[in-house]
Amino acid sequence: MNDSQKSTLIHAINHFGVDHQIDKAIEELGELITALSRRRLDRSNRQDIAEEIADVLIMANQLRIIYGGEMVDDIIDQKLLRLRKYINSDIDRVMRLNPEVYHRNKTD
Ligand SMILES: [Mg+2]
Repeated sequence: MNDSQKSTLIHAINHFGVDHQIDKAIEELGELITALSRRRLDRSNRQDIAEEIADVLIMANQLRIIYGGEMVDDIIDQKLLRLRKYINSDIDRVMRLNPEVYHRNKTD
């Protein structure tokens, strides 16, 4: 998020208010859930889903500003580190169990 985008988000929070933007975030999350669910039925396309992802990211960035970006960033770092460790340990496990399967899937 660049400075201009952040400025627009702060302006939106100040203009509409925190409670309204939190309600809007809930609404947008619901729309993304609906778009992703409809995908399974072939009733939403990439454009529909991309628009709902954009809406959710816009609202998530406002939530990040409202609840504290540094704390969110710290938690993201912790969670991504944990994910990386999990993936690495899972790769090690698969390689130990069946190295041929691992190398065959890796090149697919
Ligand atoms: Mg939407």
